[in-house]
Amino acid sequence: MLTKTKIYLSSPHMGGSEQKFVSEAFNTNWIAPLGPNVDGFENDLKSYLGNKKEVAVLSSGTAAIHLALEILNVTSGDEVLCQSFTFSASANPIIYQGARPVFIDSEKDTWNMCPELLEIAIQDRIQKYKKPKAIIAVHLYGMPYKVKEINAVAEKYNIPVVEDSAEALGSTYFNKACGTLSDIGILSFNGNKIITTSGGGAMIVNNLEQKEKAIFLSTQARDNAPHYEHSTVGFNYRMSNVLAGIGRGQMEVLDDRVQARRNNYEFYKMNLEKFDSIEFQEEVEGFYANRWITCIKTDSFSKREQIRLTLLEDDIESRPLWKPMHLQPVFKDCLHFTNGVSEDLFDKGLCLPSGSNLSQEDLDRIMENILKTPKL
Ligand SMILES: *Cc1c(COP(=O)(O)O)cnc(C)c1O
Repeated sequence: MLTKTKIYLSSPHMGGSEQKFVSEAFNTNWIAPLGPNVDGFENDLKSYLGNKKEVAVLSSGTAAIHLALEILNVTSGDEVLCQSFTFSASANPIIYQGARPVFIDSEKDTWNMCPELLEIAIQDRIQKYKKPKAIIAVHLYGMPYKVKEINAVAEKYNIPVVEDSAEALGSTYFNKACGTLSDIGILSFNGNKIITTSGGGAMIVNNLEQKEKAIFLSTQARDNAPHYEHSTVGFNYRMSNVLAGIGRGQMEVLDDRVQARRNNYEFYKMNLEKFDSIEFQEEVEGFYANRWITCIKTDSFSKREQIRLTLLEDDIESRPLWKPMHLQPVFKDCLHFTNGVSEDLFDKGLCLPSGSNLSQEDLDRIMENILKTPKL
């Protein structure tokens, strides 16, 4: 009997020409950071995102969020409003800056930041302390957040928005690319994301001047002089030319990857929507998700665990949804504005295997296991 292979939640999926671009870097000795692949990857991203923004590629999505806060002058003692239902990397850079995160819960439609709670939090902070310095909103699992509503609140109080699009490259909001819908957008090319450079990220900004500033800060903030002269604290956050080569290859297949992940979602939906106990993260009109990860919400913790453990038994990886930041031990002393939505999602929700390289056989095997769940 053939032994079955492990099925992962989301694994890297190379397209074919990545090695060509990486070899070019080797052949031309452009191993140092900067070089033609960095420029090429940035141009590819810029045009994919609609040509209205500028892109600087960096060493990670976390680095991009950190630099964004630096550029927005977030400093020690400031408060930053951050979506609670997210991966910790959205919030950690707030701490790097010596600032304080204030966590905002989600709304039920998109599972992302609730605009009403955001406004309540802003009013509270203005009354009790001082105005928050920035807002970090997240297109979680590739589902756009309520951009118009969040931006309206942000504009009303004149607070800049950092758009965490780490999981949402390829998603659109009324035909505009996620990552381009606010003051500063960020992307991630970590190994589990929709495309990967093995590790990497990007910052999306409004103009060349801001891009130059991001590059300046990410390459050790070197002033213009023959020797090394510094009048600002810099960072070593630029993407290398070798990794950017992988990114160029991945850009050639990005649309295919989005399509494959959307097909995964359709498969799960088609097979599971007949069960009243299972809900999906649905697209609102005008919202287009890259379906980076297909998530379901069951009707109880024990049912979620039954599904997860049945899959595990057959060597299939699945995972509970993100644990909200306001429940994380590391952020236990942080202020938060909650409504129960993210806690409920964490309690009952499950991420299903969603790689763009899953075969129909893999999907059938996953479904067979899910359907074994008693009283689904
Ligand atoms: C992956 C991720 C990040 C961080 O990106 P890295 O490239 O891994 O540093 C930030 N926010 C969210 C929502 C992510 O999923």
